[in-house]
This record gives sequence, structure tokens and C-alpha cells, in this order.
Amino acid sequence: MTINTGCLFIISAPSGTGKTSLVRALLKTDQNIKLSVSHTSRPPRTEETNGRDYHFVSEEVFRQMLSRGEFLESAEVYGNLYGTSQKWINETMKAGHDILLEIDCQGATQVRKIFPQAVGIFILPPSLEALATRLEARGQDDSEVIQKRLIAASEEVSHICEFDYVIINAELEEAIRDLICIVRAEHLKKERQLANHHALITQLG
Ligand code: 5GP
Repeated sequence: MTINTGCLFIISAPSGTGKTSLVRALLKTDQNIKLSVSHTSRPPRTEETNGRDYHFVSEEVFRQMLSRGEFLESAEVYGNLYGTSQKWINETMKAGHDILLEIDCQGATQVRKIFPQAVGIFILPPSLEALATRLEARGQDDSEVIQKRLIAASEEVSHICEFDYVIINAELEEAIRDLICIVRAEHLKKERQLANHHALITQLG
């Protein structure tokens, strides 16, 4: 028997923690891992591309998709709607790939109910000051939105115990190594190795 379904990873973090840079670096090193591109009703930021960063849709279209059951999970975050395509998940799992979901804690809770084996990874900034500085340096949001994101950060962090791993992103290269190690460790889990190397273990045992 072979476990030909990949691992399902959920990455959550307060906004401004460097999650996107970490995810991009992981995807570069690992061709088998596929990132789910969410649908959102949020308008695109200047550097964002439709289909690469998000599938940008109107709130009306999002709600129609939601009512047709097209999302594995969905949530309202900072007043905008976000959701993970059920169809994409089904197809990507069937193809045997690892899957990465970059979603908030509400979404993580929903996914865990359907896939209890999902591996949760929570990213923390090194300090509250560092988080505020990063949000300001991004220049994406005005000060009111930054304040909202800082308040939301403490709500996100209150869910940390629901996750399996915690990475402190103080130094990007080290945090990338941590993330790669987690993915590798999950592949080496006993259940997966016993199933995938059954013939070898039988021969040797
Ligand atoms: P941003 O608008 O800054 O890209 O993302 C805001 C928050 O929404 C982040 O915490 C991000 O992880 C979360 N998010 C992005 N896509 C999804 C999704 O499909 N589902 C859920 N639940 N959260 C998402």
C-alpha cells in the first residue's frame, strides 16, 4: 500500500508576519507542494495579479459561489470575504500533491473539522513592535487599517494552541529553513513511511 495523497498544510499568521515571503520560498524549493489561490471580494493591491495572488471576484459573485457550496472553507477577514476552492482541493489531492493553504484561523478551524490530519503551522513576528514596523513599511494600508490589523493580530494569536508547529520569523532565512524542515518531517512520519516502504520493511523485518 502507498500513501499517495499528499500532506495538507495550513499556514496562519497575523498580517505582516512575512507569511507570504515564507510560502514563496517554500514553493521554490519544493515542486510537489501546491498553493491554493483563494477567492476574495477584497480589491487587488497594486502589486497583486488576478489568478496568482487571489481570484478577485465581486462580493455578489463570492456569495453566489458560497451558496452553491463551492468553498471548502470561507471567512470574513477585515470586512472582506475569502474562500478556498473545493474543486481545486479535490483535483490537487487526487493528483497526489502536497497542499498549502494560507488562510486565517477561522478557516483553519473549518478545514481541521474536514481534514483532522491537516498540519497547522503558525507564524509569529519576533515582537509587537516589529509587526507594527513591518505593516507600516509595506505601505499597503493607512494607519486606521494598520490599527485594525494589530488588534486582529492578538485575536489570531489566541488560536495558536490549535496549531502543530510555531515558527518565529525573526530572520527570514532561518524561518524558511524551519518551514522546509516541518514539511520534510511530515513526510517522514511513521504512518506514511510504513505504508510507502512496506516491501522494504517486510524484507528487512
Ligand atoms: P490579505 O487580504 O492581507 O491578503 O489577507 C488577509 C487574511 O485573510 C490573511 O490572514 C490571510 O491568510 C487570510 N486569507 C486569505 N485567503 C483566505 C481564505 O481562502 N480563507 C480564509 N479563511 N482566510 C484567508
